[in-house]
Amino acid sequence: MLSPQLFHTILGAVFFLFPWCAQGKPAGSNALLDVLHLPKNGIAEGLREVFLPQAGNEMENVIHQLEHRISRLEGVLYLEKIITGSGGKIFATNGKRGDFRTTLKTCEEAGGSIAAPRNQGENDAILYFVKSFNTYAYLGIKESLIPSKFLFLDGTRLSYTNWHVNEPSGKGEEECVQMYTDGTWNDKRCNQNYLIVCQF
Ligand code: CA
Repeated sequence: MLSPQLFHTILGAVFFLFPWCAQGKPAGSNALLDVLHLPKNGIAEGLREVFLPQAGNEMENVIHQLEHRISRLEGVLYLEKIITGSGGKIFATNGKRGDFRTTLKTCEEAGGSIAAPRNQGENDAILYFVKSFNTYAYLGIKESLIPSKFLFLDGTRLSYTNWHVNEPSGKGEEECVQMYTDGTWNDKRCNQNYLIVCQF
C-alpha cells in the first residue's frame, strides 16, 4: 500500500520531471513496470487504498480524477525510462549532467536528494539510468575526514558498498563517488559532469 509520504514523494518526482511529462506520451505497460521494479499496483491504486475509505462521494470523485491523472503520468515516466523504484524509494533523472554540487542543488530544489544506494536493489535502480544514458552518475556518498572512509551525506555509515576493484584509491584526493556503467563505484573528484540522478 502507498503511504501518504510516498504519495508526496511521487508528486515530488513528477514535478522534477515535469518537462518530460508535458510531452504527453502514451501510457506504459505492465511488462515495463517489471523491468523498472515499480509497484505493480501503481501509485494511483495506492492513493485509492489510502484515501478512498475515508472519503465522501464528492471527495471520491476528486480522488478518481487524481488517480486517472497520476496513472497517466506514471505511464509517461515509465515509458520515458526516467523513474525507477526500489523498496518504496523512487529514483529519477532529468537526463541532464552536472557536477556534484549541481546535482545536490538540482535534487534538493526538486524536493529530493542525490541518489544514495543503501542496498543492491537501490544500486540496480540507479544503474538502470547509468546504463540507459551510458553516463556515470555521482552518488550521495562522500569521503570523511579520515581518508578512504566514506559516509552518507548525513554522516551515517555506509550500509552497503560496491567498490570497483582497487577502489577507493584517492586517499583524500577524490572526495566524491561515481557509479560506473557496471554498477561499481569509484572515488572521484567532485568537478566532473555526470548524469543527475535523484531519490524521492
Ligand atoms: Ca578512484
